[in-house]
Amino acid sequence: TDVTEQPDKWASRGIDITKPSIARAYDVVLHGKDNFEADRAFVAQITEVIPEIYDVAAHNRHILGRGVRHLAELGIRQFLDLGSGLPTVENTHQVAQRHTPDANVVYIDNDPIVLAHGRALLAENDHTTVVTADLRDPATVLNDPNVTRLIDLDRPVAVLLVGILHHLHDDEDPKGIVDAYMNAVPSGSHLFITHFCASSPQARDAEKQYLALLGTGRFRTIEEITDYFDGLQLLQPGIVPLPLWRPDGPVPPEHELSVGQKLMYGGLARKP
Ligand code: SAM
Repeated sequence: TDVTEQPDKWASRGIDITKPSIARAYDVVLHGKDNFEADRAFVAQITEVIPEIYDVAAHNRHILGRGVRHLAELGIRQFLDLGSGLPTVENTHQVAQRHTPDANVVYIDNDPIVLAHGRALLAENDHTTVVTADLRDPATVLNDPNVTRLIDLDRPVAVLLVGILHHLHDDEDPKGIVDAYMNAVPSGSHLFITHFCASSPQARDAEKQYLALLGTGRFRTIEEITDYFDGLQLLQPGIVPLPLWRPDGPVPPEHELSVGQKLMYGGLARKP
């Protein structure tokens, strides 16, 4: 990675390093190296409101791993990871293919930096690919030749929207977008969502900071998050704070969770 902070060099690749990006800011909180001063400054501001933001990101990565592992155990062999982020540890294909070596995984992200860093993944195996596309346009995503090559819409698909829907504004119709993906996949497919939740006054403050500094941020209520799963069968334990979703070890009772531990909620559902 070239981390020299020369805006012109990156601008020619469609990357504006003078403003924070969602993918790079997330890389900061995951202790990655693919980020710039603007991204670190944004995270510093968020840390003022939510000191636990690094832990929140770690919880989100852990639940992604637990979810993909569970989906693989349920027999799912195709994963459409929408808003996948920069490659980090325990990416979807590593978790899925550890269980099912020939599981197919397509990563979709609209930030060109993800593809730039995803080429190593592309070389890694024939069952994984990274596509630069806007998930708000499901028809284009689902008809992309790189997607259709690995995702057979006649067989169950895991649709992953992990840590991304709170970056869509209400007028972008996130529920309609989720429905478009779930309408395109057959019975036995699954929907996995994690989402910032308006679970505390601090969460509301963080939402304001996200919107002001990053341009996106819509922390939804549990009811609003539940609406995404309309018509689907929610699997146990339902929509819960991330640490409580199928934990691998002991966890505190819900009333003892901190602001950060309740900042994001997640759930998994099956299409009947
Ligand atoms: N899903 C990963 C995870 O939870 O660990 C990464 C989450 S990261 C916070 C959100 C990602 O969504 C970023 O990489 C960002 O570039 C991407 N993203 C934001 N808006 C998008 C859009 N309209 N289409 C595709 N990707 C988008």
